[in-house]
Amino acid sequence: MIEQKKIIEPERVSCEVCFREIPLSEATSVKAIDYIVYYCGLDCYDKWKKQKAEPESSADD
Ligand SMILES: [Zn+2]
Repeated sequence: MIEQKKIIEPERVSCEVCFREIPLSEATSVKAIDYIVYYCGLDCYDKWKKQKAEPESSADD
């Protein structure tokens, strides 16, 4: 009986900003309240952070 060795591929995650698939080991991750957000790099992390920080335009018009 031959037992096939399973090749464990590195886990991949998709970048929260550009949706590119990246190996988990290379991803930048940020732990949010009940989930983890991944980025392909600090560039996308920065974009995400700015999006989040952007104040909602007040209904002033
Ligand atoms: Zn990205």
